[in-house]
Amino acid sequence: MVARRSVSVFGSTGSVGRSTLDVIAAHGGAGTWDVEVLTGGSNAALLAEQARATRAKLAVIQNEDALPTLREALAGTGIEAAAGDAALLEAAGRRVDVCLSAIAGAAGLAPTMAAIRAGSTLALANKESMVCAGGLVRQEVDKAGTRILPVDSEHSAIFQVLEERHSEAIDRIVLTASGGPFRAYSLEQMRAVTPEDAIAHPQWSMGVAISLDSATMFNKGLELIEADQLFPVAAHRIEILVHPQSIIHSMVGYRDGSILAQLGTPDMRTPIAYALGWPRRVDAPVERLDFVALSRLDFEAPDDIRFPALRIAREAMEAGALAPCAMNAAKEVAAEAFLTRRIPFLEIAVVVECVMESFDHGPAATSLDDVIAADRDARALAREVMERRARQFA
Ligand code: NDP
Ligand code: MG
Repeated sequence: MVARRSVSVFGSTGSVGRSTLDVIAAHGGAGTWDVEVLTGGSNAALLAEQARATRAKLAVIQNEDALPTLREALAGTGIEAAAGDAALLEAAGRRVDVCLSAIAGAAGLAPTMAAIRAGSTLALANKESMVCAGGLVRQEVDKAGTRILPVDSEHSAIFQVLEERHSEAIDRIVLTASGGPFRAYSLEQMRAVTPEDAIAHPQWSMGVAISLDSATMFNKGLELIEADQLFPVAAHRIEILVHPQSIIHSMVGYRDGSILAQLGTPDMRTPIAYALGWPRRVDAPVERLDFVALSRLDFEAPDDIRFPALRIAREAMEAGALAPCAMNAAKEVAAEAFLTRRIPFLEIAVVVECVMESFDHGPAATSLDDVIAADRDARALAREVMERRARQFA
């Protein structure tokens, strides 16, 4: 049992958010946790149900049209209801012991920053925060005297096995990747895949956007940049290794030849429990790993030709400043176009690469406004690129 703690969950109606509420429920729910804020995007019915079950103080829905539904579903409970981006920021400004940031995409950045400024410990699933504004996020963390507990499974793994007292002896980080649903596809086969094929992840059950990012391997590209931002290891020492079973969640290699790895079934409730319980280890409602049933673990080198996202992300990481932010924004626009059947799968990386070629990623961001402007400009550029290419190939 964890000690009584206050917690907020941003994006509680999503995949990570629901897993977080599972972990909270497995630890006594409202009896153990003071749930301060839960938030959703549009799913007011689920948000209200979650808020009732956890006796949250405040439920915020981003989509203002969904506020009447939320209010109605919470009538008589005493739970406050609010809507919109400003309400999300106000809610993130309420200090709690741990704030879990699990809104999908760049939309998670502003609430993440507000939570840090409030001095809450940040359990970070929203990798886009570190990709788009890693430098600013780290500055705010230092200023507020708080800390980040990574929730992304690879980064939780690294966090668990990276021995800070031996940081000078770290030789490399090995970031594992499942390879996604198209790991063994030829380029020819990838040309014809549908959104349904792309979001059917072989190992992990996740939200739509990250499932698609796993299929293109932009997810691993984002995670490479996230790892570079989170850990004191030179970028060229972070390797990507394809490991289809997703049992080893990542590894740290030391100069004496030792490799420390964190293993477990592919279930987000493990890294979530690690972050919520930290610095203790607490129970998580997950299956125990059965090595005999598993019998083998496989490894492959990543393939930059079939998965150009890996190369594009490494280039964006090396370019630094606002390049990773632009890459993510362009990727979100192109991914949405693929999901709505406006461009084929292989065009996603092509669009992102075209944006990266012409985007002026300028000096490093000095404020959130710089990041928001770069995100907006890269989105506009991505739409222009798609229109131009559609005309060219019409
Ligand atoms: P989902 O799409 O399942 O959930 C996203 C959450 O964000 C939902 O609560 C959604 O609300 C809400 N939301 C969507 N758009 C907005 C917006 N504009 N403003 C406010 N809230 C919004 O995503 P996941 O849970 O899969 O992923 C969340 C984050 O965690 C991502 O950054 C992802 O990369 C990261 N992550 C996810 C993992 C996973 O296993 N799923 C693993 C590691 C990291 P609603 O549904 O109500 O509309
Ligand atoms: Mg991950």
